[in-house]
Amino acid sequence: NRQIHLVSRPQGEPTADNFKLVESAVSALAPGQVLVRNHYLSLDPYMRGRMNESKSYAQPQPLNEVMIGGTVGEVVESRNEHFKVGDKVVGYGGWQEYQLVDATQRGVLQKVDTTHIPLAAYLGAVGMPGVTAWYGLVKIINPKAGETVVVSAASGAVGGAVGQLAKVRGARAVGLAGGPDKCRQVVEELGFDECIDYKQHPDVKSLSAALKAACPNGIDGYFENVGGKILDAVMLRANAFSRIAMCGMISGYNGEPIPMQAPQLILVNRMKIEGFIVSEHMDVWPEALKELGTLVATGKLKYRETVADGLAAAPEAFLGLLKGKNFGKQLVKLI
Ligand code: NDP
Repeated sequence: NRQIHLVSRPQGEPTADNFKLVESAVSALAPGQVLVRNHYLSLDPYMRGRMNESKSYAQPQPLNEVMIGGTVGEVVESRNEHFKVGDKVVGYGGWQEYQLVDATQRGVLQKVDTTHIPLAAYLGAVGMPGVTAWYGLVKIINPKAGETVVVSAASGAVGGAVGQLAKVRGARAVGLAGGPDKCRQVVEELGFDECIDYKQHPDVKSLSAALKAACPNGIDGYFENVGGKILDAVMLRANAFSRIAMCGMISGYNGEPIPMQAPQLILVNRMKIEGFIVSEHMDVWPEALKELGTLVATGKLKYRETVADGLAAAPEAFLGLLKGKNFGKQLVKLI
């Protein structure tokens, strides 16, 4: 079983040297255990936070152990009555080819139906990123028909779903993404009303002018994935009683400071700003996954994937994700 371990902690930007490919034997199954052959590994921005020593809302990733991460795969051996060989499953198998799981604990491994939904989608639109989009949009922004919702990292796994869910609710969806290709896809494939290439607008003033043009009625809801000057520009166009779902601030994940230019606008505009961690809202997952699953199965929720080939490619793909090299959900194909 090949695995990738975290072997050192990054100072600032992580590098491939922080990871090491390790071979290990798979032990025999104990009663209740299941052996899963992982087909896809999910790479997610939160993993950057886990590489740090300091405790955030979650414990750090221990050194010299398999990197944590969501996986989908197939049961290849089972000593658990609830799982049989051939079952397709989603779990937290980590950066490795095989995963030995004690499936007696509820929720560690979920069977999934791949009749109408591809297996990999359970790591994206019909998985954690999709539920993240759903929670921030539905539970925090809660847009009314005709309102304007803006989302940053709009071509990404989370952002792409946010705009489409907003459109389903009759709102105007405006994205921000890096580069003309991503912006074109956000409008033409994902069906957003507009998308702004933030790289063409290096300062807050110019970005805010672009937002004014794309959001003639101002901004009622903002789904934050990035932070920094994008947030500052959005704040300048925010309407009274607008809502911000604080989902991520990837522009500061390597320790860069992300000051806020005009926090007084929160008061002036009587804004609601709420941060959330999707794994703390397990109660909404069934409702969210039901809507997301139906939309994906009927072709109404579109998404794109960037797929790295083989476990050894995971570290570079992860470093690329933190630099915006991914286009849509970043996966690693293991089989
Ligand atoms: P994405 O698929 O959106 O990939 C990350 C994207 O972020 C990149 O493609 C890039 O897009 C953008 N990006 C990277 N660095 C910067 C930067 N310095 N400035 C601006 N944009 C940058 O990832 P996800 O959809 O998985 O995650 C999106 C956000 O949601 C992240 O912030 C993540 O941490 C957060 N999240 C939060 C959860 C929660 O529970 N709160 C759960 C899951 C995700 P571009 O090229 O367009 O700049």
